[in-house]
Amino acid sequence: RAKCDGRGTFSFYDARLDQQLQDRRDLTRDLGQAIAQQQLALHFQPLFCAEDGALTGYEALARWPHPQRGFISPAVFISLAEESGLIEALGGWVLRQACTEAAQWPAPLTVAVNLSAAQFRRGDLVGEVRQCLQETGLPPERLELEVTESLLIGSPEAVADTLKALTGLGVRIAMDDFGTGYSSLAYLWRFPFHKLKIDRAFTQHLENDPKVRVIVRSIISLAHSLDIRVNAEGVETDGQRAALQGLGCDELQGFLLGRPAPVEALTHRARRVVKTVVEPAGA
Ligand code: C2E
Ligand code: MG
Ligand code: MG
Ligand code: MG
Repeated sequence: RAKCDGRGTFSFYDARLDQQLQDRRDLTRDLGQAIAQQQLALHFQPLFCAEDGALTGYEALARWPHPQRGFISPAVFISLAEESGLIEALGGWVLRQACTEAAQWPAPLTVAVNLSAAQFRRGDLVGEVRQCLQETGLPPERLELEVTESLLIGSPEAVADTLKALTGLGVRIAMDDFGTGYSSLAYLWRFPFHKLKIDRAFTQHLENDPKVRVIVRSIISLAHSLDIRVNAEGVETDGQRAALQGLGCDELQGFLLGRPAPVEALTHRARRVVKTVVEPAGA
């Protein structure tokens, strides 16, 4: 593309690209060190029962306080880790740390851990989870593993086997960011999900777009018919909260109700999410 441009921009882009690549290499090196030196942290975001506001558990979210650059977004460092193979070490640390913390929480609070597709492709994920539960003493039903649709496009048979083995341990599986990826309905049939997490993009448009309401209503109804619970991510306003309650969503998560916070800050308290249901117009 740059070659067709006869105005001498070639070397300009080339240098920029070079800089970006070098930047990624530097960051990847730093990330490797951060993992080895246990400089990553976990934050926990609360999940609440939509019906009565009871705290149901927390999602563990990795944080990387870079010594020079401050907090780097997980969107950046998770993909670096996936590309470089560091995801196994990172994912292993997150799992271990999350289960260790959750084992201290009052039952039946759960912890949700995000898994990257790369963790399914390499290593012995099932063995790792089993060992982690044994060593931390966390009851399996209090661990929820979040996977995304991207996981399911590669080798669905192998993934289905792994997911079945994981549910065989007693852990729960949640499909994260539902509706943003490939969203094949066949996934709901072929994989043993306990929960769907409706992506923040839907929650965001719930109040002002009737079509989004129809879609969310259908997702919830479909999930419930299949005995799958539904979480809505990214709840930021009271209107969204009320609309989701009106649509029969089971669980709410978002800045309105609680931001991700370090474990020291967790209070394990319910939130008053008084049910002032708004029946969505035109639905
Ligand atoms: P996710 O699993 O969908 O996590 C939810 C993201 O939405 C988190 O971003 C959370 O801070 C953010 N969020 C929650 N409520 C709200 C809200 O009301 N408004 C807005 N604007 N955002 C909200 P975060 O922590 O930046 O993580 C981004 C993504 O990085 C996660 O998306 C997940 O896919 C990935 N990630 C984070 N930690 C890990 C990890 O330990 N392992 C893996 N494999 N991925 C991780
Ligand atoms: Mg998640
Ligand atoms: Mg999500
Ligand atoms: Mg997301």
